[in-house]
Amino acid sequence: MNMASWISTGHLPGAAVVSDLVEQAHRRFQAVREGAVASYIPALAAADPELFAIAVASTGGQVFEAGEAGAAFSIQSLSKPFLYALICEAIGEREARDKLGVNSTGLPFNSVQAVERAEDGLSNPMVNAGAIAATSLAPGESTEEKWAFIAAGFSRFAGRPLVVDEEVYASELATNRRNLGIANLLEEQGGLWFDPEASTDLYTRQCALSVTTHDLALMAATLANGGRHPRSGEQVVAAPICRAVLAVMVTAGLYETSGDWIYDIGLPGKSGVSGGMITVAPGKGGLATYSPPLDGAGNSVRGQLTAAFLSERLGLHLLASEPVV
Ligand code: GLU
Repeated sequence: MNMASWISTGHLPGAAVVSDLVEQAHRRFQAVREGAVASYIPALAAADPELFAIAVASTGGQVFEAGEAGAAFSIQSLSKPFLYALICEAIGEREARDKLGVNSTGLPFNSVQAVERAEDGLSNPMVNAGAIAATSLAPGESTEEKWAFIAAGFSRFAGRPLVVDEEVYASELATNRRNLGIANLLEEQGGLWFDPEASTDLYTRQCALSVTTHDLALMAATLANGGRHPRSGEQVVAAPICRAVLAVMVTAGLYETSGDWIYDIGLPGKSGVSGGMITVAPGKGGLATYSPPLDGAGNSVRGQLTAAFLSERLGLHLLASEPVV
């Protein structure tokens, strides 16, 4: 097959237009009051609901920001696409797909039922079960070796060394019995390749990596740029792996509301419980937002509004077309 035919073309509008639309989105959605800050991880409950940041990074490395784009927060589920990319790079995309699955569960991110219901134990790497299974596939014999692989890979995606928010890590580790339950169930089904407790620990640690909206926009832009970081120039993962990762983000990035997301926004996206969101426009750039109040499915309210507004105004919807005149 000719790979070139798979590649979407086009680019973001000019810098002045992007910068103006980012400012407009920030002004427009700052006043939104819906949603609630996640509280099931005690350390996240204290997040300021007023915080709101937007960053758009082009594949050429330009970054446009509004709000507190340098404020740090834990990456949480936004880690999942990058983890999947790193595992694909390490063991091969085919094997990663066979071992983790790539189909939507239609159920919440932390569903135990989804694991039990699937006879082969497969879910996808965007939900907790698939992401815990993915951490178990990280190269290395020990927890520390696996962690070194994961931390180095995320830092390459960010283009700077990332560190763990120890307070969030400790807080989640002390309360994440459900994720441990998922890991134990996966092991019983033959869907885990490392110790359940250690895999849950690794998963929890990578969810606690501290990032900014600015970092995330560049990380998303790396996925939009065939795996090459737009600023550091490093080839973090191979281009076909980005395509695989973006496909799973389309079907499962927003959990049980992934259908609504692709319908409204028309781009691969991923949400996280700390209030971050990333959206990827292949070939064009990455959008990241941070706003802690979430809807009932665990997706940032202002983040979704921003993604819909910018997808439309920047002309990014992958499924939209106009008749030829
Ligand atoms: N660390 C969180 C958990 O496993 C991630 C969930 C999310 O961001 O949606 O519960």
